[in-house]
This record gives sequence, C-alpha cells and structure tokens, in this order.
Amino acid sequence: MLDIATILSENQLDGDSGRWDDIIHSVSATDVERQLDCAPGKYSAQRLAVLISPAASNYLEIMAQQAHDLTKQRFGRTIQLYAPLYLSNHCVNRCLYCGYNTDGDFERTRLSIEEALSDAQIIAEEGFRHILLVSGEDTKYVSVEYLAELAGELRKTFSSISIEIYPMDTDGYKALFDAGIDGITLYQETYNRRHYEHYHAAGPKRDYDFRIRTHDRAATAGMRRLGIGTLLGLCDWRQDTMAMAEHAAYLMKKYWRSQVSFSFPRLRPALNVADNFEHLVSDTEMVQMMLALRLCFADAGIVLSTRERADFRDNLLKLAVTRLSAGSKTNPGGYSGKSDSAEQFQIDDDRTPEQMAGVIKNAGMEAVWKDWDASFAAK
Ligand code: SF4
Repeated sequence: MLDIATILSENQLDGDSGRWDDIIHSVSATDVERQLDCAPGKYSAQRLAVLISPAASNYLEIMAQQAHDLTKQRFGRTIQLYAPLYLSNHCVNRCLYCGYNTDGDFERTRLSIEEALSDAQIIAEEGFRHILLVSGEDTKYVSVEYLAELAGELRKTFSSISIEIYPMDTDGYKALFDAGIDGITLYQETYNRRHYEHYHAAGPKRDYDFRIRTHDRAATAGMRRLGIGTLLGLCDWRQDTMAMAEHAAYLMKKYWRSQVSFSFPRLRPALNVADNFEHLVSDTEMVQMMLALRLCFADAGIVLSTRERADFRDNLLKLAVTRLSAGSKTNPGGYSGKSDSAEQFQIDDDRTPEQMAGVIKNAGMEAVWKDWDASFAAK
C-alpha cells in the first residue's frame, strides 16, 4: 500500500491543482440526488465531492436525516463525554494562528505531576473517566517519561487516556501505549502544503511529511483511537475535507483495529493572534462537512469541542456527533483555579459537565462518561 503522502500527492490533494475544485463546482442537483439514493456510509472520493458541493447545500435536511439514522444505527443513542487536561503552554513552534506560539509574550506554565493529578482529580469528580492530555510542543518537560509517569497514576481512575501533543516516533508512542495511553489526536491543520508552510513559520512542526505520517507511527505502536482534523479557516474547507477523508480511508484500511475519528476545530480568537483569516467556515458549511463525512464513513467517530457555541452544539447532537468535550479549561491548572495561565483559545460553551449531560438526556440520548471500547479491549 502506498504511503499517505504519496496518495495525497498522486490524487492532487495536497496542493493547488484545482482538479477537485472543478469537480466539486460542476456537481448538479441530479448528481446529489443520485448519491442520496445510495445506501449511506460508504466512501469514495467522487461521492464525497458530490456531498460537499455547493449543489448539495440545498439538500442538508435530507443529509441530516440520513446522518441521524446512520449514527443511531451504528452508535446507538449515546454520546461519549471527555475532558481535556492542559499540561503546558510552552511551545517551540511558531504557528501563526495559535496563542501559545513561541513568540507569545506571556508567563508560561507547566504542571508538575502533582499539579496535573490535582486537576485530574477535579475532572474525575465531575464524572469523567475519559481524559485527553494536551500540551504545546514542550518535549523537554512534557517528555515521554513525564507522560508515562502521569499515565501510570491516571490509570487508577480513568478507563481511557488520550494525548493531543507533539508528534513522536514509534518508540515514544510504544512507551506511552505500554503506560496506558491508548489514543492520539493530531490535526494536520491543513493538507495544502503551501498554506501549511505559510502558517507554520518556524519550529519542528514545519515538517509536513513527518506530521502526516504521525498516525502511522502511533497505530504501529498500538494506539487504538486515531483522531484527525483540519483547522477550519486556514484553507478552503472543501479542499481540506477531500484530503482528510482520503487520510481517514487510508488509516481505516491499513490499521483496521483502530478507530478513526474526525474533529472540526474552527479558528477561535486567541491571545496575540490576528483574526484576519480568509477561509473562515460558516455554521452551515461546517454542518455540511460533518454530514457529508458521516454519509461516507459510517463507523467514524465525530468529535465536537467546546470551541463551538452551546446552541450550535445542541443542534448537532442528534445528527452525527459521537463524542463531546464538556466543562473544558484550556489553560494549565485551569480546573483547580490555582493558575491564571494563558488559555490556548477561548471556549464558547462554558456549561458544566452536569448541565451538558442534562442537555444530552433532554435530547433523548445517554451521556457516556467512560470509553467502553477501551475498557473492554484486550491489551
Ligand atoms: S498550535 Fe500547537 S504546536 Fe502550534 S504554537 Fe500552538 S501549541 Fe504550539
């Protein structure tokens, strides 16, 4: 099987060729209706191109109904809840869209193992058993050894631990998997190489090819949950959706034991970051993207964070979402209130986990605090 960088390049999904743009913008109403008459849940690039087209934006109600039915069939009436735990806002990269970038002039914070455990204790008391460890690229402090030690303690309380940190080599992931971490989330940010180079002005993250192969290394090391995503606002969303879907299809085929999930982070206001991005994504466009991906990937996880407004999250609950964050603090030490450290971005839904569980219940669904897949999977 070809590697993902080659697949993207051969399919003209990592640059500005315009090939897919032409296909997407020539889709007709008849093409959309033909796709909506097919059984939902199977991917082909041609099918996705139709479903994300401007022509398909007139069919969102039908797409929403199909996505709802398919999600209910595959995942039941459940939504998993998780909480992020920010460990460090130090970072060596200069990502132009992020408040933590290395040029940021603010007091940086790192949590000791004890401080991280004290935040984790509050998260556990709120009911969560699935925790996501988040950090800037701070390899000297948030090292493999630090994470392994922390995971060893967290395992006593949490049934599932994931990381959203810098990309590692396979040995690093193996050490973390052995310590009890079983999932990674890592966004390519944008699959377009030109935009990628522009937005990643300095630091190891400039290496597109190392980043694009991260999930391969993690899955090879045993990680069972592989989260991918693009930062919506950096590049044309349709172009990035096509590339991300091809990435997902590749991972699902090659690492069929792992579950792949999509995230939909939209650019948010952040400390010291200009807000003049030319590809910002509207609510309607984001909904179309989410529905189209569900109708192509029946078994993919679909994750929505507190970056989004409460009313918007509530409307999306029943359509395709399988996992939600709740009560999130996006600054190190934020849960214990001991820190006034800078947050990575502003959240837009500040309801408590308990309130969020109530909203889920009122929508006729059940909030699941534990990742049952992880709990039952044999090591
Ligand atoms: S996006 Fe991540 S890698 Fe880039 S500056 Fe922010 S914390 Fe660092």
